[in-house]
Amino acid sequence: MVAKRCALCGQTKELELSHIVPKFVIRYLKKTSLGAIRNKENLNKVVQDGEKHYLLCGDCEDLFSIYETKFANKFFYPYMKDDVKEFNYDSDLYYFLTSVSWRSLYLDILDFVEHSEKVGIDLQIINCLIEKERGMREYLLKKQPNVKGIENHILFFEDIKNMSTELVSTRPHTTFHRSITSYTFFNKELKTYATLTNMMGIILFTLYNKGEKERWENTEITNGVGLIKAANQVIESICADELVLILKDAEQDATKISEKQQEAINKKVKDRPEEFIKSKVFEDLKKDFDLKKGDTDK
Ligand SMILES: [Zn+2]
Repeated sequence: MVAKRCALCGQTKELELSHIVPKFVIRYLKKTSLGAIRNKENLNKVVQDGEKHYLLCGDCEDLFSIYETKFANKFFYPYMKDDVKEFNYDSDLYYFLTSVSWRSLYLDILDFVEHSEKVGIDLQIINCLIEKERGMREYLLKKQPNVKGIENHILFFEDIKNMSTELVSTRPHTTFHRSITSYTFFNKELKTYATLTNMMGIILFTLYNKGEKERWENTEITNGVGLIKAANQVIESICADELVLILKDAEQDATKISEKQQEAINKKVKDRPEEFIKSKVFEDLKKDFDLKKGDTDK
């Protein structure tokens, strides 16, 4: 292995292959899936491990993994397995969320700079993102006690009963509960820049710039102690539109699954029907089939 510069501590060391979305989420998605996970870009290609990059040295990986383990045990598994809807948190949650968004932001900045014309990003936005990335890095390295000018929010994608007519066919439960993604986006007109990370229905937004007239209720995680509930959450922001885009993309992607792939899935269901009926996949599909057309309650 070749020594390279660690994106967090800046030391030249052997880098590890890191996941953007934490490993335990990918592992849990695999464990509760019928088959292998399919990649978003090429649905007919099976991807085993989610997105990975040489980003961090062993020491920085170890530092992050302390907070990942805490999040997995205190929030992720209780929510996924035991239906826990209320969580007391301390500043370790803020650290974990910041570390997830930072990883994504770091790579997205490289991408934005390289393809600035193609993605249509302004220098002013890039500068804002670079400044926030630096602030987050210093906080993650524990050189600063907090990060100036960012907000972390969690939205729990709970079961819904109604969906607007245009979106009723997008299978929202299956889409959000059965997938993982992480990316940074920006809206020039409304001046909202953020990283979105979906961890099987626990959706993290880190805002680097917040447009005017946005409404976020019962979603913010502060750098301290607090209580977060998977209930009565409201987002009125361009960030909510991003969720609609994810739904529409997923619907499009579903039409691209090859016949061969579809046959393989059907065969699995036919060969192991009991397993299928007990699966999380089945639960979500059922909720999607039961959706009623009407005003969205989200
Ligand atoms: Zn390092």
